[in-house]
Amino acid sequence: MKQVIALKDVTHLKASGARTFAAPTDAIVTPSAKDFLRSIGVTIQFDGTSASANGGGSNGGDPYGAPAPAAATPKWKAEHVKLFNSPEAQRIKEHIVSVSHRLWKREYVDGNGGNVSYRIGPNEVLCTPTLVSKGIMRVEDICMVDLAGNQIAGTAKRTSEIFLHLEAMKAQPKARACVHAHPPHATAFAITGAEVPRCMIPEMEVLVGTVAKAKYETPGTQAFAETVLPYCKDHNCILLQNHGVLTWNEDLEKAYWFMEIVDAYCRTVVIASHLGAAFTQIPSSKIGDLLKIKQGLGLPDERTGLKEADYCACEFRPGVVCANPGEGSAQSPDLDSIVKIVTEEVMKALNK
Ligand SMILES: [Zn+2]
Repeated sequence: MKQVIALKDVTHLKASGARTFAAPTDAIVTPSAKDFLRSIGVTIQFDGTSASANGGGSNGGDPYGAPAPAAATPKWKAEHVKLFNSPEAQRIKEHIVSVSHRLWKREYVDGNGGNVSYRIGPNEVLCTPTLVSKGIMRVEDICMVDLAGNQIAGTAKRTSEIFLHLEAMKAQPKARACVHAHPPHATAFAITGAEVPRCMIPEMEVLVGTVAKAKYETPGTQAFAETVLPYCKDHNCILLQNHGVLTWNEDLEKAYWFMEIVDAYCRTVVIASHLGAAFTQIPSSKIGDLLKIKQGLGLPDERTGLKEADYCACEFRPGVVCANPGEGSAQSPDLDSIVKIVTEEVMKALNK
């Protein structure tokens, strides 16, 4: 006879802090028990084959349909287990948990959204798991994948959005740490045609700079992961259209800072938009000073090599999309000379 697992059979798990709940393969889990397990972030393991607490079937309940999870008791390679349990890995896992908690407390993530990763070895990346709120993330939840996204250590299943981080890491060697979240103010820019304006606040210019916007793709897919590829070289902060934000750095703490900075900046711009007065930009000549500081910090900026006059090429008005600095610098002088030539020709004709 099949075992029925009801709410009363799982309520004790909340106090235990368990992440998994073992059940016979053919057990029936009542909807209220499933809801409860999901609410406390516990995964049901049906006799060694992991299934999610929401009964999501073969995809393990991942909202973005990631591949089936690794076996519940996998035989990880000894070298990976050694690295995964090393003091260095422990320190990074604790840092990932700290960042996760701060992302949640600042309301940059919701539900099980957002993910954090760190490239600990040439082919090894520590990352947050799927289906666990960043608000209750624990060191034991962190897992490890290779650069292809295969899980190579850890008991919780890796996030399906890890592919986004891995593409950034492969394209940009300095991207050892990646943070992905859905902070509301920056994401507001990611769901509209409004561009994040330039040259308004020094800290933004020095640490983040111009913000790229990657095109929309279905989260969790390889196509989604590759949307950031054109921007990883010159940007450490990328808006993901209709989705959220990705930031990266060699240092995990700084990758997290950039998330705070871009959202605070976007929030300030949104508030300023309500004041009804024109925006004031920092003069281009002063932006040059900030870009020198930025270069000294080893941070990329797409304006490197541009003429000073083009640093803040576009006057910001809400809803107006500016050309990229490179495009703007190529076009403005030509347009100016065309206007000059036409004006001179018109004046000549009028004076005849
Ligand atoms: Zn996301």
